[in-house]
Order: sequence, then structure tokens, then C-alpha cells
Amino acid sequence: MTTTQHTVPSARNARPQAEALIDLDAVTYNVRRLREFAGDAAIMAVVKADAYNHGAVPVARTALAAGARELGVTTLDEALELRRAGIEAPVLSWLHASDADFAPAIAANVELGVSSPRHLESIVAAAQAAAMTATITVKVDTGLNRNGVARDEWDVFVDDLARAQAEGSVRLRGVFSHLAHGDEPEHRVNGEQRDRLSEAVADLRRRSLAPEVVHLANSAATLTRPDLRFDMVRPGIAMYGLTPIPERGDFGFRPVMTVRTKVILVKKVEAGSGVSYGHSWIAPRDTTLALLPMGYADGIRRNLSGRIEVQIGGRRHPQIGRICMDQVVVDLGPDGAGVNEGDEALFFGDGRHGEPGAQDWADKLDTINYEIVTGIGGRTVRTYVGGEGSVKP
Ligand SMILES: *Cc1c(COP(=O)(O)O)cnc(C)c1O
Repeated sequence: MTTTQHTVPSARNARPQAEALIDLDAVTYNVRRLREFAGDAAIMAVVKADAYNHGAVPVARTALAAGARELGVTTLDEALELRRAGIEAPVLSWLHASDADFAPAIAANVELGVSSPRHLESIVAAAQAAAMTATITVKVDTGLNRNGVARDEWDVFVDDLARAQAEGSVRLRGVFSHLAHGDEPEHRVNGEQRDRLSEAVADLRRRSLAPEVVHLANSAATLTRPDLRFDMVRPGIAMYGLTPIPERGDFGFRPVMTVRTKVILVKKVEAGSGVSYGHSWIAPRDTTLALLPMGYADGIRRNLSGRIEVQIGGRRHPQIGRICMDQVVVDLGPDGAGVNEGDEALFFGDGRHGEPGAQDWADKLDTINYEIVTGIGGRTVRTYVGGEGSVKP
């Protein structure tokens, strides 16, 4: 998704046709709320995947200003983007091939997640070549069996790490792991992962490799399992105002992203008229339709066809017929409901104007809210309200 400006332009006609409005004040609110849940633990704001498609740099700045202490990303490029923007807070990047080019990240003081002896060797080589010390955080596989140092490589890894730290090519800053069942708070594996992480830290301490920070909890665990907090928690989705555990409600967070467009055409059709490709919807009566210029190319998923409602003019109206690549049609009813061309149309948002939420779409698509917000794109332009230097709409 592109970002053309950091504030909402005041001229109405300057509004993009397909827009993801990002409310940075909601990020501030959510980070403060997360701090209440986190107790004494620090917060690493997870801004991977361009801040779950909300815009990494503005979200990172806002989260730090609201009291997050560190930032977490997936790739080296994501980390370097934050550094290029002048963000100096600790940044941890955790998913790399062992032959990645670590030198720019080491030079930019990006903390590197390390998941195998091969990763460590490669980072040590890059640090030595540049005569620098790489700051690293060990990722321990405590049971997710995805990224992280495998159990059978642990002893070799610790030996290598002790050597690398002694010769000054790396500095161990942290140890972390990731939960397999974070969204099932009572699951037995959560406690097992906590204990394995503690054992790994104890192993390192015995070798005089004491980390400064240990962390395990994602949003779900931050909200439900105080015993998994360790020194720092790593919330992502809750910071974007969406619940990690829908069955447990919204936890009082404010959704940050609103996806909106505007009505570009209003027209009347007669009873019996088929609408959109395949005429899968036939007007049951004379009615009025509104055309909206967003479609599946922008993340309005085609298998939502005929299953969503759009908020226009203070009311929800059913989207009807096929969702197309570039456009969708809404049924306004016989009288047109007072909707005019140029009116704002909300696909999903924080619900303040009566619109659906990303969670509603997730439920219909049998997926999670994470996939809904990260799936908005195509021609959609991001705009911002709130945060520093904002223009209040
Ligand atoms: C994405 C991610 C998080 C954040 O998870 P949420 O469920 O969004 O809070 C935390 N830690 C790691 C390692 C991740 O990959």
C-alpha cells in the first residue's frame, strides 16, 4: 500500500478513492492500555509487515511516544527502514536466512535474532569483517517448532555463542521465544514453553551469558497470562486495536484502521434487473444502487460477495452481487436512502459511525482479523489522523 501524506487533506476532492485511514491516536490509546496489562514488563511494539499494513514508521513513532520501549520486525529491510527514518530505539529483527547480508544491520545497530549455529557463524563473520560487535537476541524454539534454535543444536549453539561473545564479535542482549497457543490462554503448552525458556536462560547464565531481557508474550499472552511476561512483552495485533482472542471480546482496544471509499455513482434500476457479473443478484423491486470504486484488487475479498454491509450516510446497506476487481455495488433501497454521489462509504473501521469491524469480515471469511487488515492493498492509499503534527478532521 502506498502512503501519500501523513495528514488528511482538508479539501474533500483530495481524498483518495480507496483509502485506509490510520488513527494514530488509537495507537497511542492501545499502547497505554497494553502498558496497564503489561505491569512491570516493557513493551516491544511489533511493527512487522509494515506495522500489519498500518505504516511502520508512523506507527513506530507513535508507539514509542506512548511508552513502548523497543520495536520488533521480521526482516532486516524492515529494521533498516526504521533506522533510515531516524528511529533510534532498540529494533529487533528475527527472521533471516543464515546467508543474509547482516553487515548493514550491524552497522545500523539493529539487534539480530539468531536461530541456529549457522546464523551465528554468519553474523560473527559479518561483525569481524566490519570490526564491529553485533548485538544479538537468541531465539529459542520452546515448542512452536518453527523459527528458533532447535533443542538438538542448543549445546553447540551455546558453546559457539560463548566463544563469539568472548572474542567481542557479538553481545548477547536478549533471549526470546514465541508461543504456539497464545490465543488459548489455558493451554498446557503455554506453561511448558515458559519453563523451557526459563531453562534456556538458566543454561546461558551458567555460562556467564546472562541476557538483559527475556521475552515470550504476544498480545494474547500479554492480556491473559501475567506469568508469561518475563521482562518484556511483544504485542502486535492489540496495538492495532484488534482482539487476539475474539471469543474473549475486544479487551477495550480501539481499531486503528478504517477502510473507506466514496460513492461514485448512484442509479435507479427496475425490479428484475441483474446486477454485476453473472447477475448473481436480481433486484427484487425497483431500487437505487450505489457504486463504490474498490474491489478485490484492493483487498475487498471476492468471497465476501453479497455477505457484507457498507456504512453510508449513517446507515448500513447490503453489498449485492459479485465483488469485482475494481468496484462493488450496494443496494440503497427504493428511495435511495438520501445517499448522494461523493458520500463517504465505510467498509470497516472502529465502529464509531456504525460500520462493521475487521473482525466481522474475519468471521465471514473463517480467518483471523490479522489477515483482514494486512490484506488491504492494491490502489488503497494510507492517510493518517492523530499523532504528532496531525490535522484533526
Ligand atoms: C507477530 C509476532 C508477535 C506479535 O503477535 P500478536 O499476536 O500480533 O501480538 C510477537 N512475536 C513474534 C515473534 C511475532 O512473530
